[in-house]
Amino acid sequence: VNALRYLPFLKRGLVRRGPPLHLTLFVTGTCNARCRHCFHWKEVAAGVQGPGVEDVRRLADSAARLGPLLWVSFGGGEPFLRRDLPELAAAFGRHGLRHLAIPTNGLVEKQQHELAERIVRENPRTYLSVAVSFDGPPDVHDSIRQVPGGHARSMASVREYKRQAAAHGNMGVGIIVTVTSENQLVLAEHLEELVRELQPDNVTINLARGTAMETHLLDVDIARYLEVVAAKQRLMDAGLLPYYRFPLAGLAAARDRLMYEHVAAVARGQPRVHLPCTAGSLSAVVFEDGEVHPCEILGRSIGRLGDHAWDLGALWNAPAAVALRREIRDTRCKCTWECAQADNVLFHPPRWPALLLRTLHLRRGVRTPDPARLP
Ligand code: SF4
Repeated sequence: VNALRYLPFLKRGLVRRGPPLHLTLFVTGTCNARCRHCFHWKEVAAGVQGPGVEDVRRLADSAARLGPLLWVSFGGGEPFLRRDLPELAAAFGRHGLRHLAIPTNGLVEKQQHELAERIVRENPRTYLSVAVSFDGPPDVHDSIRQVPGGHARSMASVREYKRQAAAHGNMGVGIIVTVTSENQLVLAEHLEELVRELQPDNVTINLARGTAMETHLLDVDIARYLEVVAAKQRLMDAGLLPYYRFPLAGLAAARDRLMYEHVAAVARGQPRVHLPCTAGSLSAVVFEDGEVHPCEILGRSIGRLGDHAWDLGALWNAPAAVALRREIRDTRCKCTWECAQADNVLFHPPRWPALLLRTLHLRRGVRTPDPARLP
């Protein structure tokens, strides 16, 4: 993966009109866990099926006709429950997709590794990041996910993914933690244990969001969230979290730092700068039934792909999409959804000086302020 392959995306910081760069595709609503904080729990309970391979190929082809995709995330449900996941990955990979992210609970054991192996081998120009979710020490994790023994199985999965990644230049292994009211007192410490034990490439921190199965889990103390962010920062500063190995990875790591600070400020109702949201302009979410939304949060659709032979172009430039983009801009929409905020930091030129500075600091090992002490 060459740094020059990222050049076509640079101008989208300045020009918002154009193709999506980042797609989240819900490939299945089925899951082998029942996480009590899951925002998608109704679809999981119903076992909603994802789109067929042919529909995903049409979607990928139509997205490629609009322009190159930087990043696709497979959502769910548990993506690795789909045996045809490599076919879905190849639908995008054959168009030169730069990054494919697959978050997983790590509970599909043998099948998940076989599928991941096929994906990295069959899509050599795509960087695959597999990230396994943890919600705290074993008792907390297993209780939140409602899978007895799940923590140990997910740990074993990370170790096996690491063995796989060591054999490929286009694969990285991360872990994901979601801060909830039930794990907020123990997650920072456990994150340090996980990183020292598993040595992942990266950690993704989510703030519980949306319409959880148990809504009390959303009642997070932002100071505790920032402790988890600070723990990640300490681990990076100590050289224990190298980040994924792809060109411009330093920029992505710096973007994450600014993104966490922004998310915390929004959660507190005190954002110092407004980040115009790029959801619906640079990114889109495609749910299992083909409904296209700008994001996972707003609950607004720009149409259903099934009504247009899975041609994204038919929806992307239609009046409904244009009107929703305008509404997001005019209402100065803001939220804590990390996926959108990461894009918003990266594609907001006024943040570029800060982004550059953080990138240089990371490269030189200069410590940035402890986020837990931010005003
Ligand atoms: S700010 Fe959040 S809710 Fe609003 S459009 Fe962006 S991602 Fe969606």
